[in-house]
Amino acid sequence: MKKYLSLLLVVSMMLMLAPAVLAEGIYTPGTYEGSAAGASGTVTLAVTFDENSIVSIEVVSQTETTDMIDKVFSQVPQAIIDAQSTEVDGLTGATITSKAISKAVEMAAALARGEDPAAAAAGEEAAAEKAEIEIPEAAAPAAEAGLGVDYADTIAWDLTYDVVVAGYGAGGATAAIAASDAGASVLLLEKAPKGEEGGNSKFAGQDVMGPTDYDKGLAYYKALRGLFTTSVSDSMLETFVREAVANPQYLQDLGAKYDEFWIKAWPEFPEFEGSDSIYTWIVGGQSFQGTLYKLLQDNVASRDIDVLYEAPAQHLIQDPFTKVVLGVQFEKDGRKVNARAKNGVVLATGGFEANTEMIQNYLQQPYVYVVAARYNTGDGIKMAQEVGADLWHMSNSAGFTWGFMAPGAQTAVRSLTLTNGIIVGPTGQRFMDETTSLRHGKMNYGGRWVSMITPLPAYFVCDQNGIKAAPLSRSWSEGNAEEIEKGWIVKADTIEELATKIGVDPAVLTATLEKYNGFCDAGEDLQYGRPAEKLVKVSEGPFYAMEIGPCMLNTQGGPKRNEQAQILDVNGNPIPHLYSTGEMGAVFADMYNGGGNLGECVAFGRIAGTNAAAPKAE
Ligand SMILES: Cc1cc2nc3c(=O)[nH]c(=O)nc-3n(C[C@H](O)[C@H](O)[C@H](O)COP(=O)(O)OP(=O)(O)OC[C@H]3O[C@@H](n4cnc5c(N)ncnc54)[C@H](O)[C@@H]3O)c2cc1C
Repeated sequence: MKKYLSLLLVVSMMLMLAPAVLAEGIYTPGTYEGSAAGASGTVTLAVTFDENSIVSIEVVSQTETTDMIDKVFSQVPQAIIDAQSTEVDGLTGATITSKAISKAVEMAAALARGEDPAAAAAGEEAAAEKAEIEIPEAAAPAAEAGLGVDYADTIAWDLTYDVVVAGYGAGGATAAIAASDAGASVLLLEKAPKGEEGGNSKFAGQDVMGPTDYDKGLAYYKALRGLFTTSVSDSMLETFVREAVANPQYLQDLGAKYDEFWIKAWPEFPEFEGSDSIYTWIVGGQSFQGTLYKLLQDNVASRDIDVLYEAPAQHLIQDPFTKVVLGVQFEKDGRKVNARAKNGVVLATGGFEANTEMIQNYLQQPYVYVVAARYNTGDGIKMAQEVGADLWHMSNSAGFTWGFMAPGAQTAVRSLTLTNGIIVGPTGQRFMDETTSLRHGKMNYGGRWVSMITPLPAYFVCDQNGIKAAPLSRSWSEGNAEEIEKGWIVKADTIEELATKIGVDPAVLTATLEKYNGFCDAGEDLQYGRPAEKLVKVSEGPFYAMEIGPCMLNTQGGPKRNEQAQILDVNGNPIPHLYSTGEMGAVFADMYNGGGNLGECVAFGRIAGTNAAAPKAE
C-alpha cells in the first residue's frame, strides 16, 4: 500500500504540471468510512479526503483494550496524514491496533478512489498467502457395504490426509504444527472467513502459562483444582504442568526470541502453595497484540499444512463397529465434503461462548456478552457427543465481568469503570460489593471463589458526580457526554424518573439509594462490605443508568480428555483416533489462573497433534 500511495503521490506531483488533469484528482473529495479488525474488535474510522490527500481521520467506533488507546488513536492517524501513507511505524505495544488503523484508512482510500475495497484487500492477501487447495469433484466409495468390507471403503472420501484438525485457534494451530512435525499430512479446517480466524486466541492477552518449577507448579494447580478431585485426576494435572513447564522452550523452538518475552509473575491466588513458580510468557513482549497467535500462524504457513477457511467441521465420520473415527465431514461453498483422517482427528473448535442455548443449558445464565470468539458455538462439543464422548465441567468458565453491548455491536466493551456508582439488578436492589476484586471472573463468596453473581438485566447507576468522575470505558468521551447523547447511558432528573426509564420499581430504587447513601455517610457498607474508602454517594441529580451484562472470556467445559489428549467415551475409554486441545474441554474444573488456557492450547496441542499423527494399527 505504501508503494501505492507513494506512487499516487508521484502521480499527483506530475499532475500538478497538468492542471486540466489535476482537476479530476485522485480521490472524490468527501468522508469515507473504513473498517479493519483490531486486537479486540472492529476499528472503524471516518477518513476525509480532498482531491489529492488525506485531510483528517476520525474514530467512529473501536473496542480496543490496549493501555495505549489514547496514544495509538492520536499518533498513528497523524503519522498517516503527515506521511500521506499508511505504511507508517506502528506504536510499540499496540501493533495490531496500529495496523488496523492503517488498514481502515486503506479501505476508506479505496472507496474515495471509487474502487472496491474488498477486491483490493483480497488481491493483496492472495498475493501474500498460498492459495486454498481445490477440492476435487465428488469421489465414489471404493466399495459397497457388505460382509467383510471395511467400513472406511464405503465412504465417498473427497480428500485424504493423515490428520484433520478442526479449529484454527492456538490449540488447533499447535496441533497442526505438531502433527506436521511428526511427519503427517495435515488439513486444518476453520469455520470463520479468512482474516477472522483465531477465535479467542487472537484477541487474548497472549499470556502462556509456563511455571518455573514443576513441583511447585503442580502444588499450585492442585490447589486451583480445589475440591474437584474426582473430575480432574492427579495424573492429568501432572501432564498439564509438565508440559506447561516445557512451553517456553517450545515457543522458542517455534521462533520466539527469549530476549523478547515478557515474563510475568502472575499468581492470581498468591496464598496458594507454589504460587511463586507461576509465570506467564508473552511472545514479543506485547499483551493483547496477537503475538502468540501470529507466531503460530507463521509456523502453520511455513509448513506443508493445508488450511481451508469458511469450512466448518460438522460431523465426525465413525466406523459404527470399531468406533474408530475415520474422518470429518465439513461444509465448503454449500457442499458436504468428506475428509479422511487416516491417523487421527483433533477437535479444537473452542468453547460455546457464542451459543446462547448452550449457555442457558450449561452455565445457568440467560445470556452473556460475546467478547471475542463469535464463531465458537460449541460445534466440536456436539460432534464429539455424536460419537459418544463424555463431557466434563461444562458449568465452569473463565468467568464474568461487567460489560456493555452497544446496539448493533457484535462484541461487548468489557473494561468498564463502575466504581463511581452502584450496580442494581432487575428489582432495583444492590447485590454485591461493586468494587470487589475478581480473579478471572470469580468472586470470593464465603471463602469459595465462584462465578460473579449476575441478576439480569443489571444497571450501573450513578449521579452527576459519578458520570463526570471518569469515562465508563477508557475510550469514551469526557464526562461520557457522547455516550449519553447516543442513548447508551440514560439520564433523568430524579431517581424515580430514572427508575421508570430503565423499568425498575421507583420506590425500590429510591430505597436502595437511601440505604446505600446512609452507608456512605456512616463509612460502612453493612450490606456487602464495600470498603469505606470506595463508598461514593449517589445523591446529586441528574442521575444516570447504563444497562450492563456479563462478559465472559471463555468456557472451560467440553469433551473429557485424558493425558494423551484422547477424547473419552462415557465409560472412560478413549474414542479411537479422536483427540482434542484448547478450551474445548479444558483441564480447569474450578479456579483458574490467567495464562492457563493458552498454556493448555500449546501443551495439549503438542500432545494431540503428535499422537494424532502416529500411524495406528486399527
Ligand atoms: C479477551 C480475552 C483475553 C484472554 N487472554 C488470555 C491470556 O492472556 N492467556 C490465556 O491463557 N487465555 C486467555 N484467554 C482465553 C484464551 O484466549 C482461550 O481460552 C484460548 O484462546 C482458546 O483457544 P482455542 O484454540 O481452544 O479456541 P479459539 O482460540 O477460540 O479457536 C477456536 C477456533 O475454532 C473455530 N471454529 C469454531 N467452530 C468450528 C467448526 N465447526 N469448524 C472449524 N472451526 C471452528 C473458531 O472460528 C476459532 O477460530 C483470553 C480470552 C479472551 C476472550
